[in-house]
Amino acid sequence: LPEPDAVALTDADVVALLPRPGASSDKYRRGVVGIAAGSEHYTGAAVLAVGGALRAGVGMVRYAGSAEPVAQVRAHWPEAVITTLAPGEGVEEVGRVQAWVLGPGLGTGDEARAIARSVLAEDVPVLVDADALTLVAQERSLLRRDAPVLITPHAGELSRLTGVPRELIEARSLENVRRAAAELEVTVLLKGSTTLVAREGRPVRINPTGSPWLATGGTGDVLAGVAGALLAAGLSGYDAASCAAYLHGIAGRRGPLAASDVAEALPETVRSLVNGLRQGR
Ligand code: AMP
Ligand code: MG
Repeated sequence: LPEPDAVALTDADVVALLPRPGASSDKYRRGVVGIAAGSEHYTGAAVLAVGGALRAGVGMVRYAGSAEPVAQVRAHWPEAVITTLAPGEGVEEVGRVQAWVLGPGLGTGDEARAIARSVLAEDVPVLVDADALTLVAQERSLLRRDAPVLITPHAGELSRLTGVPRELIEARSLENVRRAAAELEVTVLLKGSTTLVAREGRPVRINPTGSPWLATGGTGDVLAGVAGALLAAGLSGYDAASCAAYLHGIAGRRGPLAASDVAEALPETVRSLVNGLRQGR
């Protein structure tokens, strides 16, 4: 049978894809995610992205950033292994990671550009979000790499990257997300009231979870952390994005909430999803 053009994700899909530790697991095999996020004025984005990754069940987070976000990440997350980057320095000296999250709160100046270039030069999958989407829109050659790229734009960010007007992306999102994935040769997670995940040659996945309570600052940063954790665990960009959107959507259902609450709800979200399926719900 030919694959359909678009499919809605289900509990069973996500539970089947979610990595769970076994007896022989160790933190390195569960996945080490690098997070390059935050800047002098946007320290919170770094804290939220690290929190999303940790709460999604990653083996280890390595965080790299400038002094200000480093201080905040250190204060919030003793679990993170931290590298302070001097102005203009890249991530070459950060230890081994299996995937990178690049962009939340990173800024778009010279320091951010140096970090983005160095991350995209690493031979591992990279999730490109937020300010890093602006940087790659200015320097398209950054997306030309062998290892996979997952981009996580909202409609405005995808518009900047493709030139398609925002209103058109929103009005014909399925068609536009599919075209962007094919033309940019990346996996696209398009955020919005309904989140879509597109990869060339695969059906567009429609995320049926989520809620308007998620329309609050910082939730996108948490999502980037969750998807990055799953990339580092070895899921493809397509599967990591799908699971992350699904879990993030459920975690955001009970509002009012702040972005930190979404991260905090993730462990219980995974538990109830796995248990619900086991009990044949
Ligand atoms: P960002 O655009 O990076 O701030 O991320 C915002 C997050 O909130 C994304 O996961 C969106 O899908 C989600 N979101 C924003 N507005 C809505 C909405 N009206 N309904 C459901 N989810 C939303
Ligand atoms: Mg964002």
